[in-house]
Amino acid sequence: MPKNFASADRAPVVARSAHPTVPRTGGADTAVRLDAVTKAYGRGENAVPALRGIDIAIPRGSFTAVMGPSGSGKSTFLHCAAGLDRPSSGTVVLGGQELTALGETALTRLRRDRIGFVFQTYNLIPSLTVEQNITLPLRLAGRSADAAWLARITDQVGLTGRTGRRPGELSGGQQQRVAIARALVTRPEVVFGDEPTGALDTMTAKEVLGLLRRTVDELGQTVVMVTHDPVAAAYADAVLFLADGRIVDSMAEPTVERVADRMSRLGAWA
Ligand code: ADP
Repeated sequence: MPKNFASADRAPVVARSAHPTVPRTGGADTAVRLDAVTKAYGRGENAVPALRGIDIAIPRGSFTAVMGPSGSGKSTFLHCAAGLDRPSSGTVVLGGQELTALGETALTRLRRDRIGFVFQTYNLIPSLTVEQNITLPLRLAGRSADAAWLARITDQVGLTGRTGRRPGELSGGQQQRVAIARALVTRPEVVFGDEPTGALDTMTAKEVLGLLRRTVDELGQTVVMVTHDPVAAAYADAVLFLADGRIVDSMAEPTVERVADRMSRLGAWA
């Protein structure tokens, strides 16, 4: 079960501040930090507030799940933290770089070079092989793949021996593993996941969540994942709960039961 799996898997991890709600730690141990971030869609009387003041520092090498009722701001939070969208006010600092200070070209380059994305739909390029899909972010950046690193992540995601195949020859879970390897290939500051197991069956979802967990424990990767599934959230070191555009609670060492209980009390499944 995830609870046992997660605690067993975490046992060898050196103690770290898994509780990400200390807002202003900043510095080298912080992968991404949001200060006083607000976001409204539209203008004037029609403006819809999606984020109403987010202060959070996410420790490097941690796995954070973001949960909340529909419309609570999860996607907007992820998009602002990942430089896919600009806050209306406040600052986002990723790996020491203030995203909110960058122009479009620099921001695009930073997203490509320093951020990994894993989506619900795998977004692989069907005509490319597994290896070509994995190394695409490097080729776009004009960099070549480090053979040892490529071999390591290919092994980590369990795709050794399948790198010549095309996405159409793979199962959904295998395709998502390719997408995770692609997200890891640039050694990004943060891998952001938007419901990365939303399209997978329960067993395959657990495999993918276990893989994300190992990227944190074994590669020191930082992962931030939006999910509505307490089982998925229980793989994380900590869960942030959003409601109405604010972080209303957080939970360290989450279990399925505690997360589900907290979500019920947020009215998520009312
Ligand atoms: P969640 O991911 O938790 O469902 P979102 O971040 O998608 O929440 O949305 C937060 C709020 O912002 C909601 O009220 C939603 O309707 C609104 N919203 C999101 N995207 C847009 C948009 N492009 N235009 C207008 N309103 C939006």
